Amino acid sequence: MKILIEYECPQCGAPAVLEETDRLFACEYCRVKSYLFNKDFFQYVLPSKASDSKDLFFMPYWRFKGMLFSCVDKSIEHKFIDVSYQAVESNAFPVSVGLRSQALKLKFITPDLKGYFVKPQLSFQSVMNIFMKRFSDPANDVIQYQAHVGETISIIYSPFYIDKKLYDAVLNEPIGPKLPDEFDILKIPGGKPEWSLKFIPTLCPHCGWDLNGECDALVLICTNCISAWIPSAKRLKQINFACMKRELNNTVYFPFWRIKADISGIQLASYADLVRVANLPKAIQKGWDKIDFYFWVPGFKVRPKTFLRLLSQTTTAQPMDELKTQLPDEKIFPVTLPAEEAVETLKINLASFIKNDTLLDNLPQIKIKPKNLFLAFIPFQESHHDYVQPEYQISINKNQILLSNNL
Ligand SMILES: [Zn+2]
Ligand SMILES: [Zn+2]
Repeated sequence: MKILIEYECPQCGAPAVLEETDRLFACEYCRVKSYLFNKDFFQYVLPSKASDSKDLFFMPYWRFKGMLFSCVDKSIEHKFIDVSYQAVESNAFPVSVGLRSQALKLKFITPDLKGYFVKPQLSFQSVMNIFMKRFSDPANDVIQYQAHVGETISIIYSPFYIDKKLYDAVLNEPIGPKLPDEFDILKIPGGKPEWSLKFIPTLCPHCGWDLNGECDALVLICTNCISAWIPSAKRLKQINFACMKRELNNTVYFPFWRIKADISGIQLASYADLVRVANLPKAIQKGWDKIDFYFWVPGFKVRPKTFLRLLSQTTTAQPMDELKTQLPDEKIFPVTLPAEEAVETLKINLASFIKNDTLLDNLPQIKIKPKNLFLAFIPFQESHHDYVQPEYQISINKNQILLSNNL
């Protein structure tokens, strides 16, 4: 489901339509670039068709779009889910926004919106638990571990009003039977909308240069002073990155998060440990117990099946080439999976390459604490159908990448 958002340029007021995953907005009229930012969730409102005389109130819905991985009986199941669910449970209202958000253009919440905005009562995590149960096969009673990975978590407010009956203001049609007499929306905590969109100027904090990035990029790059930036609490924060330079034909650099973690419950600190745990067909060489083990996670969204394969392939490959803080002259694929989400994959990552049933059974007891993150650009060679990394024998189907812009 693809959500479109109606928007006005904060600089000149020109109208624009954004996609849900767009973060870097470049106005077609005034050319000013800004980065859309929020510290927790983006909040949207569905348009109302009701006449202006109606007193609207807005019910909140959590929306999640992303991947769900479940470790069940020594294998990993994956699903892509795209759902919404009441953030205030009530039988009187639709349980989800349904498919309406797909057909309609949403707007960002602004403080000047009229109406009563009901405060969310369920946390995202509790709604996520409902989703996870719903999307798990009931025949699988032993789910050892589940992780949700996806950057799209938001709140959608849907308008309603009361005119003897309860009306859905999106359709301007009554829903359900007559409301009970004691129903009073004002008894549910709420008030004026408190949320508003934040903008961050996209100038490099080091050198003032205009930062580069695709519209859905989560990491912005300064090609002048060679630095990389992520938005964080109203300003840009510098992150470490490096590039593995290669002379390949038609090179495209893909971003990967390299993560060092403290792992307990399993011996996995070095490359030698990895060879044992993953049962890699290699004889352990002297010195491999001195080489640090890292988790590797794709820094881009792709269908869950491919994502899972890339987790396992990149981590077992343990790219060890020299990484230099430089930018390739060739094309860089944008980072669309943020560091926080990469961190959510670590246990699934581990489960994807463990070749030992006893260790897999211990999965719930294993603790993984990420210590430091690093963004690495790895060169892939573009061929007719795939992007291929010849040294690590990793390939990514081009169609998968094309499909990923709707994830
Ligand atoms: Zn403008
Ligand atoms: Zn700079």
